[in-house]
Amino acid sequence: MTAMQYRTLPHGGEQISVIGMGMGSIHEGSESEIEQTVRLALEHGINYFDMAASEGKPYACYARAFAGKRQQIYLQMHFGAVYDNGKYGWTRDLQKIKQTFESQLQILHTDYTDMGFVHCIDELDDYQKIMSNGIWDYMKALKQNGVIRHLGLSSHDPDIIRRFLDTGLIDMVMFSINPAYDYSTGTYGIGTASERGQLYRDCERAGVGISVMKPFGGGQLLNAKTSPFKQALTKTQCIQYALDRPAVLTVLPGVRNSQDLMDVLKYLEAPDEQRDYAVIGRFTPQNADGICVYCNHCQPCPQDINIGLINKYYDLALAGDQLAKGHYQKLSVKADACVQCGHCEARCPFHVKQESRMQQINHYFSHTDPKSAI
Ligand code: SF4
Ligand code: SF4
Repeated sequence: MTAMQYRTLPHGGEQISVIGMGMGSIHEGSESEIEQTVRLALEHGINYFDMAASEGKPYACYARAFAGKRQQIYLQMHFGAVYDNGKYGWTRDLQKIKQTFESQLQILHTDYTDMGFVHCIDELDDYQKIMSNGIWDYMKALKQNGVIRHLGLSSHDPDIIRRFLDTGLIDMVMFSINPAYDYSTGTYGIGTASERGQLYRDCERAGVGISVMKPFGGGQLLNAKTSPFKQALTKTQCIQYALDRPAVLTVLPGVRNSQDLMDVLKYLEAPDEQRDYAVIGRFTPQNADGICVYCNHCQPCPQDINIGLINKYYDLALAGDQLAKGHYQKLSVKADACVQCGHCEARCPFHVKQESRMQQINHYFSHTDPKSAI
């Protein structure tokens, strides 16, 4: 199988596998199956593990699989998920949160978590509670002591994430991303396509990484009957879509067993045509039509311009991302190479006016102060 790819967490430099593991479904297997699946994940280069389970059972199994490998893995632990009698529960009770975190560290034979996340926060009054009842202060103190390496949260709501971004204290966020939610479809599709796109760019500009939950829309996208696109997408297409969003470092599909895991890992060896998710362009809502989604379906460009990447850097630069300006300037082929042949525009399922956009991009970067590009 093709080797795992890794992306860098901007605040810290950790190399995070582009495919990680969600924990929500793994309790369905026996304890030995769980342990075996985690071992298999490690063997295939997965090093990023979300640690919000649906039951308490998997933690000891993970601990056995992680033995001797703590330095090579990154744990994303949740403050607010609790397991009284082994069953998942959600709380904002500080004492319960403390007890759960301390006991999970013990079970996992570790004394720190790489990511300390406020668990599942989607409401403004919940945000205010977290900030005022001691939970956020507790987490900040753990960060100060090195017990939490990076602060973050899991949320489905762009507004809540933005509030945490404004604190300047978070390094990572877990957000639900798939083409349906980005097109405002489904329970967790909160925010318009442009608001969600702006959030990804703001995270990238702030150096905050995104780990992706619900990449398959809870499985709905994988079935033509339940998919809002009336057509089934593959896991590989959904993973590629998520990884193409700015700031995304890793996608965390929930797997039930080794077979599910190997199915997801097929992404790594999938050729470009299997990763291509341009089919969603047929269903683009009006407010997202004409907006580049960086899919590169319009390739090949006769000038070898990486059209998706250049568009991404442009959008990020417009959002104030200085690093994106630097990345653009380092490209060997830039927008000025465009000969206006129209091939990309004719092929774009999202109706992007790419010929004029290339002119805009070239004009923008030609007039950007090189000193502002890192
Ligand atoms: S111009 Fe269209 S086809 Fe090309 S990368 Fe952008 S959205 Fe995809
Ligand atoms: S219009 Fe420009 S960017 Fe598009 S395919 Fe032709 S040369 Fe490439």
